[in-house]
Amino acid sequence: MTDDGPGRGNPRGLHFITDLANTLQDDPEADAPTLQALLERHGGPPFRLTDTDARELRRAARHLTPILDTHDEDRAAEAINTLLDHHPAHPRLVRLPGRPWSLHTQAPPAAGLTHWLLSTCALALGLWLSERGTCAWGRCAAPGCDRFFIDTGRRTPQRYCTPRCATRVRVAAHRAQRADE
Ligand SMILES: [Zn+2]
Repeated sequence: MTDDGPGRGNPRGLHFITDLANTLQDDPEADAPTLQALLERHGGPPFRLTDTDARELRRAARHLTPILDTHDEDRAAEAINTLLDHHPAHPRLVRLPGRPWSLHTQAPPAAGLTHWLLSTCALALGLWLSERGTCAWGRCAAPGCDRFFIDTGRRTPQRYCTPRCATRVRVAAHRAQRADE
């Protein structure tokens, strides 16, 4: 899994986690080609997922959703530490052709899929929590949308998954206000 690392404002490993959680929220039985495409979108290691692999990934991903759903730093830290206890990350610096050195966890087949997914994601969430000091992630507050997002803003906490949802809520509020006038 490629990640530009903490402090560079481009937490791609984290966006992989929310993309995975949102994909499985939309379709809890997301199949191998869907998950394969998701991995490739995020620069994941190029291995072919079988149906068994897809099932394993779907099951492992269930450990991540409760972390994305909490805003209690202590509980998030405890859950991340538990994942790291069970799935130690063993990160290494790797230099891919034409790219700067970047930190990677051991990829399949050397690591099992569950181990790879949970160690990579726990490390990314742990680095993000330690950098931000808060659970800088959440679920969209727009009506009819409960997609997960990573809060990369520096000022007020993010409430919506995308500018699109934020605009939708603003327009609806504006219309309601005008109807009252
Ligand atoms: Zn939304």
